[in-house]
Amino acid sequence: MKNTAAQILTQYQLRHTACRVAILDLFLAQSFALAQADIEKNLDTEYDRVTVYRTLRSFLDKGVLHKVLDSSSTPKFALCTSTCTSQTHNHQHLHFKCEICNQTTCLDKLGVPALTLPEGYQVQEINVLVQGVCKGCATQAAV
Ligand SMILES: [Zn+2]
Ligand SMILES: [Zn+2]
Ligand SMILES: [Zn+2]
Repeated sequence: MKNTAAQILTQYQLRHTACRVAILDLFLAQSFALAQADIEKNLDTEYDRVTVYRTLRSFLDKGVLHKVLDSSSTPKFALCTSTCTSQTHNHQHLHFKCEICNQTTCLDKLGVPALTLPEGYQVQEINVLVQGVCKGCATQAAV
């Protein structure tokens, strides 16, 4: 079972504010990554851009959210697994972008293929984006 917004804030020692709870609720309600504009659009209460931006930043810093790089020009965010902390973000998973609905999801169960880099290169972060058609869109197309 997923944690509630309040549990997540407590776990990461973040102060409970209405804005934080509202934003986390959005992430908990969907399975796909959200850009800041999507978040602003879907919040019931209006918060100014700076507040939303700061909230996202503190979630990133604490290991609540991670950045999802897909082929769109704006960064998106997705919930981290509970193993992330402010010290270690562990994101060795694939992201899948659907070309039909434009939604990007984390494929947590699929690890990133091991890479052997040329000597002298060090990996800091690996972003793997798979593009295609998601399950929902594929089912719809088949009907
Ligand atoms: Zn993380
Ligand atoms: Zn889709
Ligand atoms: Zn992800």
